[in-house]
Amino acid sequence: MHTLFDLTGKQALVTGASKGIGYASAKLLHELGAEVTLVARNEEALQQAQNTLKGSRYIVADLASRAGVDLVLEKVGAVDILVSNAGGPKPGTPTQITEEGWLSGFELTLMSTIRLARGVLPHMMGEKWGRIIAITSLSVTRPVPNLTVSNTLRAGVENYLKTLALEVAPYGITANAVAPGYTLTERLEQLHPNPEDLEKIAARIPARRVGLAEEVASAVAYLASPGAAYVTGQSILVDGGVCI
Ligand code: NAD
Repeated sequence: MHTLFDLTGKQALVTGASKGIGYASAKLLHELGAEVTLVARNEEALQQAQNTLKGSRYIVADLASRAGVDLVLEKVGAVDILVSNAGGPKPGTPTQITEEGWLSGFELTLMSTIRLARGVLPHMMGEKWGRIIAITSLSVTRPVPNLTVSNTLRAGVENYLKTLALEVAPYGITANAVAPGYTLTERLEQLHPNPEDLEKIAARIPARRVGLAEEVASAVAYLASPGAAYVTGQSILVDGGVCI
């Protein structure tokens, strides 16, 4: 393998990794040589993922609370590559979202990334090497109707990472986001249960199809790689040139 992409010996923590974009990212990092720890809430799904990714470990935790993230940080040990990902917050229009909806979205979507990053940074700073990557959404470039909480908080995640990137660059640590467009996963199928809706979405995308989780994962793997050492504070859209 080319050294610019070789992750042999690197410890990767991938959250929201039992399915979808998180799983595809964990799989690719594993294939590039990283030792991968997977996090999600459902142990059965994690066991299935672990069976495929030989030698990987998993931690059952809910990232929507401080206690859940602390559990991950206690169990995981040293982390060289963090891929912060979880399910999206609940949909709804601005007038529909309750106080509780805002607070739970804040914990899950913004604070989980901040807490995970704070937890893994001391080791990375000591090693003078690290990669912090969060999965956000195309909603950082334009609001997606009905995804009020996501639209609002993903912008916070991206600006947190851009600010973090400035502080940790002297330590050889990069902080970046990968912003997926419409990507075929359980989440997309839940948001659009009618297959005709997905066809209509695809027709409005320049690539004329929705993306694959593996296509988002390849951007994650690039940012995690030694070859991306000089790329920081960026957000890479993986969206088929979306014009929606
Ligand atoms: P998914 O629902 O297929 O997978 C989400 C993963 O996160 C699963 O492994 C799930 O178990 C885990 N997870 C969910 N809530 C969790 C929690 N509280 N604690 C721990 N683990 C949790 O979703 P996906 O489509 O792969 O999306 C990943 C992220 O990308 C989401 O935040 C989503 O909003 C965002 N995104 C997805 C799309 C898309 O079209 N799929 C588009 C833009 C943004």
